[in-house]
Amino acid sequence: MVNQSDIDARDAGSIAIELDEALTIRSVDRAWDLRADSFGTVECTGRFLTGTSILAFITGGTTRYFYERLYRWVTGTGQAVRLPYRCDAPDRTRHMEVLVERVSGGLRCVHTTLFVTPRPATLPRLAFATTAPPTVVPFCSICMSVSWQRQWMDLQNACQAGLQVGPNALPVACTVCPSCSRFRNRLTRGSPTAVSTSP
Ligand SMILES: [Zn+2]
Repeated sequence: MVNQSDIDARDAGSIAIELDEALTIRSVDRAWDLRADSFGTVECTGRFLTGTSILAFITGGTTRYFYERLYRWVTGTGQAVRLPYRCDAPDRTRHMEVLVERVSGGLRCVHTTLFVTPRPATLPRLAFATTAPPTVVPFCSICMSVSWQRQWMDLQNACQAGLQVGPNALPVACTVCPSCSRFRNRLTRGSPTAVSTSP
């Protein structure tokens, strides 16, 4: 059950983006543009996004592969999937869900805020990197957990377990944790053998 009062007004409601079969952004809805505007990210409005590949906006090869597999599976099978994910703001955690469904000539992805909680001010901001030098903390782009001392855990737990954070953004390497990988595999069980399609 989603209690609307749990959701910050800035995050309320759903926003939608449509892709064509080559995963190029075809359009975004008005709610998407309004949200991008309210966050001051004009570069994320439809005017700038349309015509570019969605994959270009996903940091990290493993994460890109994760989403590409998911999109191709929905395109190939016509079955919709719901993927829960985290997309935190500096002051609040955002628990989101994306519904990916096949529509004529492509895909429609509807992102909905499930609930929001305050994010402790002591937690560091994150600096997302594609590559992973040994000192960079692996980070799951789906659930926002980090790998610390060979275990995947919430950032807050990692800080309590001794992950040292300074005043600067914590460099993290974007990837997908084993738990989210297994979840995607379960979502796309019964996948057709061909996952790559060429237009
Ligand atoms: Zn994860």
